[in-house]
Amino acid sequence: MKNIIEFFPHLTELKKVVITTHQKPDGDAMGSALGLYHFLHSLGHDVTVISPTNWADFLDWMPGTKTVLDFEMNREKAKNIIKEAELIFCLDFNILHRTKNMERPIEDAKCIKILIDHHQQPQEEAFNYGISDSNKSSTCEMIYDFIVQSGHSDKLNTDIATCLYTGVMTDTGSFRFPSTKASVHRMVAHLKEIGFDHTIIHENIYDNFLENRLRFIGNALLNRMDVLYEYNTAVMFIPKSDILKYDIRTGDTEGLVNYLLTIQGIKFGAIVIDRDEERKWSFRSKGNFDVNTFARLHFEGGGHFNAAGGRSSDSLDQTVKKFYQIIKQYENQLQ
Ligand code: 5GP
Ligand code: MN
Repeated sequence: MKNIIEFFPHLTELKKVVITTHQKPDGDAMGSALGLYHFLHSLGHDVTVISPTNWADFLDWMPGTKTVLDFEMNREKAKNIIKEAELIFCLDFNILHRTKNMERPIEDAKCIKILIDHHQQPQEEAFNYGISDSNKSSTCEMIYDFIVQSGHSDKLNTDIATCLYTGVMTDTGSFRFPSTKASVHRMVAHLKEIGFDHTIIHENIYDNFLENRLRFIGNALLNRMDVLYEYNTAVMFIPKSDILKYDIRTGDTEGLVNYLLTIQGIKFGAIVIDRDEERKWSFRSKGNFDVNTFARLHFEGGGHFNAAGGRSSDSLDQTVKKFYQIIKQYENQLQ
């Protein structure tokens, strides 16, 4: 993978471009994809954003979301667009299998592939150009750097600012995680001068749910949480029956894992949700407990030092049992 800087001179050669991101895109994935979309579009490229799957309703208000193609819903059309693409930008993921059923079509595409991402241990051999920097707060911050460093600051506009702010806000937990460096605040100040409404963005993302979701969370906190004080760990397990009872949709469970870390002394929070095809884990930690390694070693996953995900093909009961077994090895690290 060559440094992204070497790609800058090619930016003005007009191309057919595909932008994609990880399955079930979150605010940073969608924000970076759409921020880049508006930028490349303004340069005159023919750009399509393809999401591997659907996304949370609370991202639908973002400028450009209506143009995003859901791969699962439009497979043939999306495959043709990927086949004809001259450039494919891969954002906010480190390993191609995070694009689920798009993995093969992207692998098979013979065009130039560019990675822009902030997760650890990228699959560098899969890309021609790229930048992977796990010190960055968000992929949105990296898209801002991409635009500015390539000499196109004049193209920044309100749509781009809105999309990029959304991803930085969501990936930094509203500017509280350690990755929120001075440069993040400087970028936000610059974007704010260009123009976006941060109050409306916050409301669109965080005050935009149905009653059922709140009742689901209440039930989860009351009945589905176990606090293991001897390991400074809290774990939550969500059975399929809860998902059905409360009509839980994509995005409704995002952020639930963060409640676990609000308990005094808790350093490690883990939640597992019984999805149709797999049991999906989310891991969060405070301080020096490395959940990226934990997820890689035990649950076929990865991510960042303090935020990672994983999966299991076992039943919900079995995967929770496995967690209780494994956690014993970490007693010292979690003190
Ligand atoms: P979340 O728990 O919010 O789904 O994910 C936390 C972080 O870990 C995100 O940055 C996400 O992209 C990453 N992540 C989640 N699941 C996986 C996984 O199965 N594999 C890898 N490599 N990263 C994951
Ligand atoms: Mn991200």
